Amino acid sequence: MGVRVGKLEFGGTDFIVIAGPCAVESERQILETAEAVAEAGAKMLRGGAFKPRTSPYAFQGLGAEGLKLLARAGRETGLPVVTEVMSDTQVDLVAEHADMLQIGSRSMGNEALLTAAAASGRPILLKRGMSATVEEMAEAARAIRQNGNPRIVLCERGIRTFETATRNTCDIVAVPLLQRLTGLPVIVDPSHATGIRDLISPVARAAVAIAADGLIIEVHIDPDRALSDSVQTLSIAQFRELMRDIEPFAEIWSERRKGVCACV
Ligand code: PEP
Ligand code: MN
Repeated sequence: MGVRVGKLEFGGTDFIVIAGPCAVESERQILETAEAVAEAGAKMLRGGAFKPRTSPYAFQGLGAEGLKLLARAGRETGLPVVTEVMSDTQVDLVAEHADMLQIGSRSMGNEALLTAAAASGRPILLKRGMSATVEEMAEAARAIRQNGNPRIVLCERGIRTFETATRNTCDIVAVPLLQRLTGLPVIVDPSHATGIRDLISPVARAAVAIAADGLIIEVHIDPDRALSDSVQTLSIAQFRELMRDIEPFAEIWSERRKGVCACV
């Protein structure tokens, strides 16, 4: 059985593309981005309000104000929204505004957060820890399930390796492995996996061809001015192109799905 978020079902018959900015920055930025990605075919909206950043001097997100703006953009476009929750104490606030809770790479092993997020009853997007094995990720998913919440979607977002040419190393084989191991839907985040705009479409195509359940992509109305992750963020035109690029793989996707994973 799949994981429902509003009218959508991950692990069902649809390939679900989630798109939106790395962070919610302003009313205009999130509303315009939401409208444009919806028109291009995205089915869900992303946008960070609480941002885990490598540097304490970098933009930390708009917090509660960002959550409200994201929820409004979701209502106005009809797209369910997903946003990151960074600590157990934030779960109630984030769950009030978001249709799905994102647990980020840096938090995958935070048991207090996994437990609190599970208790919210909201579907959870669990991102792979940057140094986590496939088995460790499956364990984190089990921890959420054991706390009474089976509505989990996993996300491969690249891992740390000796390779420095890309921001992370996209472990594409983790997709079918995790689908089989956990029976859960698995999506791919080519933005954080590569950290390079030009590589996002090729990795997105690979994700469709390997029968992932969806994608999460960073898109911004003015990517060069994005306050975070600018170099890996697509413009609206580039996102439209990506949606066209993955189209020919849709048939392969439908065929592959018949052979994979307990979740379908
Ligand atoms: C994000 O998706 O906003 C994010 C911070 O990604 P990750 O947790 O995978 O680094
Ligand atoms: Mn980002």
